[in-house]
Amino acid sequence: MTRTEKPRHKKPLDDRTRDSQSLRVILPEDVWKWHILEELLDRVLSMYNYQEIRLSVLQDYSILHQGITALIDNKEAEHVVRQVVNLNHPDDNISLLSLRPEGTISVLHQTAQNYRRGEIHRLYYHGPMFRKNQDMQPMEFHQLGVEMLGSDSILSENEIISLGMRICRELGLRDTVLEINSYGCEWCRQGFFATVRQYVKDNHGDYCRQCHESLSENPLLMPMCQSDHCLQTTLKGPRIQDFLCDKCRLNFHKIKRIQSNLANEYRVNHHLFKHFAYYNETVFDFIVRNNNKDIIIGGGGRYDALSEATIGNKIPAVGFYLHLDRIFEIMDQRHLFIRQNDDFTVYICAQSPDLEIMMLQIVQDLHSYGIGTILGADILETETEIANAKAKHCELMIILRDENIREGKILIRNLVKEYQDYIPLNQISQEIIIARKALQHS
Ligand SMILES: [Zn+2]
Ligand SMILES: [Zn+2]
Repeated sequence: MTRTEKPRHKKPLDDRTRDSQSLRVILPEDVWKWHILEELLDRVLSMYNYQEIRLSVLQDYSILHQGITALIDNKEAEHVVRQVVNLNHPDDNISLLSLRPEGTISVLHQTAQNYRRGEIHRLYYHGPMFRKNQDMQPMEFHQLGVEMLGSDSILSENEIISLGMRICRELGLRDTVLEINSYGCEWCRQGFFATVRQYVKDNHGDYCRQCHESLSENPLLMPMCQSDHCLQTTLKGPRIQDFLCDKCRLNFHKIKRIQSNLANEYRVNHHLFKHFAYYNETVFDFIVRNNNKDIIIGGGGRYDALSEATIGNKIPAVGFYLHLDRIFEIMDQRHLFIRQNDDFTVYICAQSPDLEIMMLQIVQDLHSYGIGTILGADILETETEIANAKAKHCELMIILRDENIREGKILIRNLVKEYQDYIPLNQISQEIIIARKALQHS
């Protein structure tokens, strides 16, 4: 379905505040969910023949600085640069290191080193990124970045958009909506920028000082201001679409047509802002409505001019990011993580410290059959050990007692069916394997 809708006021700043716990720890109760999320990303991306690249968390400040400031004017550049988390080094001769705020610049740099004209590179990465929030506090967030380098065709844009939509759907976010716009080429922008500057000048009373400055510099960058009044004034102002040249207009039309043929629901957002200024032509966001709020879960666009401005080598490029923390939160709220319950674990405890070696031998033997174990690390009452084993969701329990060992047997307790039995010492693994089969088929 295709429709054009009036843009709503989205407040990414709200979400940024929420993400600002600067020290992130993911606890075991959530790690298995992250595995599901990450494995799905890897699976879908490999279907589209994208290869993972593992970028350094530490980045060379000068390369990064050059990349993020390449296509913007001074004041706005200052603002973006301030958000980079730098590591101060006592030795001034050593180049300053930064924590990666994004991955695109780094990927471009890597690719450019051996790039030959006409080559297509499909790359992705996911992991922690770092920026300062609006209170200038460092924050860590998780992001997927996908980049297709080397093609300026409409097909590459459509591949990237379709891939992003596909991932969101595979994750269970079937209500993901594509918002799309065109930032035009350098030529189209000149007329648009000049008109916006005049509009901002004529309406300066309706803008705060920050918006006045930011819109006069680059009307396509995400404004930091959250005032509804400023936003409403912008929405009434000039739209880039009215300034597109014939080529940009035709390309935008083709992309919309192809996306609607692919059944990717989209809406044109005439005021789609971006956090970085390096985009041209197609830009897009992926949006999910959650708790009556539109949440931007990712987005991207074409950035043909960035490589030339930073490395002097023209590599046409298009890419997108997904905000994995936001996606995780929404998936968790919607109960989309389902644990695969095929792990079978045996709890092993002993009633005397002399049996430690035997415990460890049994553990080794069970591991050789791929059976997971948990050791009761202290000598405790049997009832306490049973409670511990149940708390750890173990199916079976082995209880070692001196008097049983002397008779050549050990006690096995089935915690699912609540019964226990003695088995011969020399048949522990075989008996456990039989019990596992019985439990898995019951
Ligand atoms: Zn154009
Ligand atoms: Zn404002």
